[in-house]
Amino acid sequence: MPTAIVVGSGPNGLAAAAQLACAGYSVTVFEAAATFGGGTRSAEKIQPGLIHDECAAFHPLAVASPIFNELQLNKHGLEWCAPPIQCVHPFDDGSAAELHQSVQETARLLGKGGASWARVFGPLVERFDDLLGDISKPVLRIPNHPILLSRFGMRAALPAAALAKTLRSEKARALWMGVAAHALYPLTTAFSSSVGMSLVVSAHAKGWPVAKGGSQSIANALASIIRANGGVIETNHLVTSINELPPSDVLLLDVSPRIAADILGDRLPTKVAAAYRRYKHGAGAFKIDFAVDGGVPWRADAAHLAGTVHLGGSAAEVVHTESLIHRGTMPEKPFVLVGQQYVADASRSNSSVKPVWTYAHVPHGYDGDATELIINQIERFAPGFRERIVGRATRSTTDMTVHNPNYIGGDIIGGQASLKQLLFRPRVTLNPYSTGVPGVYLCSASTPPGAGAHGLCGANAANQAIQDLN
Ligand SMILES: Cc1cc2nc3c(=O)[nH]c(=O)nc-3n(C[C@H](O)[C@H](O)[C@H](O)COP(=O)(O)OP(=O)(O)OC[C@H]3O[C@@H](n4cnc5c(N)ncnc54)[C@H](O)[C@@H]3O)c2cc1C
Repeated sequence: MPTAIVVGSGPNGLAAAAQLACAGYSVTVFEAAATFGGGTRSAEKIQPGLIHDECAAFHPLAVASPIFNELQLNKHGLEWCAPPIQCVHPFDDGSAAELHQSVQETARLLGKGGASWARVFGPLVERFDDLLGDISKPVLRIPNHPILLSRFGMRAALPAAALAKTLRSEKARALWMGVAAHALYPLTTAFSSSVGMSLVVSAHAKGWPVAKGGSQSIANALASIIRANGGVIETNHLVTSINELPPSDVLLLDVSPRIAADILGDRLPTKVAAAYRRYKHGAGAFKIDFAVDGGVPWRADAAHLAGTVHLGGSAAEVVHTESLIHRGTMPEKPFVLVGQQYVADASRSNSSVKPVWTYAHVPHGYDGDATELIINQIERFAPGFRERIVGRATRSTTDMTVHNPNYIGGDIIGGQASLKQLLFRPRVTLNPYSTGVPGVYLCSASTPPGAGAHGLCGANAANQAIQDLN
């Protein structure tokens, strides 16, 4: 029986381990933290019965993930719950733009800008599964649907601020810019539309659901498959060097390139080591989980029904704040994402107190306290929020790195979304999963297709490992 070791139990590490275990490998996963799951952990952090997602919360990419569907996570306890509205972008006057799963409903509610929204995103939504097959693989390969991919690529290549100009109302532009801001990169640069394009198209195709009981349910389902196939997950086991690991036929690293360089030491070819050490981590996240009595008192009605609420004001304001954080300046009114998972999944709370998940975009390695800025930004759109807070748990960029060593400088998306790193992560090569050390692969979100709790980096790397060993 071939043997496999996986270092790190994020969604990519667990997807790789599950795939290898199902392929007949004897699999051991080593995880530094006390709980497996990496970015898909959940916990009762503030009070019993209140479940908070530690990191990933909304799962357009996981619900669509070919590997998760192939592994049939639903048979291992995973259930998706969709909010009535996927995402809302409120404005200072109490109105809001709404992202519904239906393109037509979104367009109708956007009014003047609706037709342009449907024109930009609609055609890609209809062929989402074909598109996903191509965008979930490394760039340097022959696509299965070249015309569809080039249609996507033409829009994804635009600066998000330029794509906004094709949308015919401020409401539509701000809604788009809030989603595009997930790239955590200046929205005036080429390809800064790519992350937003994937997220808007997947929202319309599959919704932005949450995992019932918390994102931990995704990790639990993967762990159940690994264990059912004889695999073992060992937590509280930080791996610092390949030399301390038992021998195995394949080794997969669900870690950032820099950590991989440390673990592999002088076994790593010099050129690969240099590329891994040059790999850039981008802007950070400052996270606060709140326990809020009665939920957030939004001024905009629609926001009460949304899973995700984007707080950034006008399209121009979002462009400005995102450019500030990239330059190392903390904005007074940062872009804040608010998650209301309980709107979709009633099991997240057992009383009138609700778990509210928030984070602000902050500069890389930001060492200040963004607590007041986040609360003020929520108050701006939901006056009275402060009085409803009954508890909170804060995680600065430094705490992020302690929680998960992959989140270097608070970077939660596995590396800066620069043009080079979007197209060629973690280095320019035909085989991005190969480390250059025989049998050793990188499988984290720093490889294609990048960030998200979809497990596709892990699945692609595991396939490569199986193919090479065969
Ligand atoms: C606040 C926040 C919000 C997010 N929101 C979303 C969202 O809504 N939707 C979405 O799809 N994505 C979201 N993400 C991103 C998503 O969580 C990540 O892209 C995803 O978890 C990456 O998965 P991964 O398997 O590559 O690595 P990770 O999830 O980072 O897991 C890596 C694991 O490896 C372990 N590890 C690292 N080094 C070692 C070592 N040396 N030895 C042993 N173990 C090690 C870590 O402890 C960790 O458990 C969010 C992330 C954060 C932090």
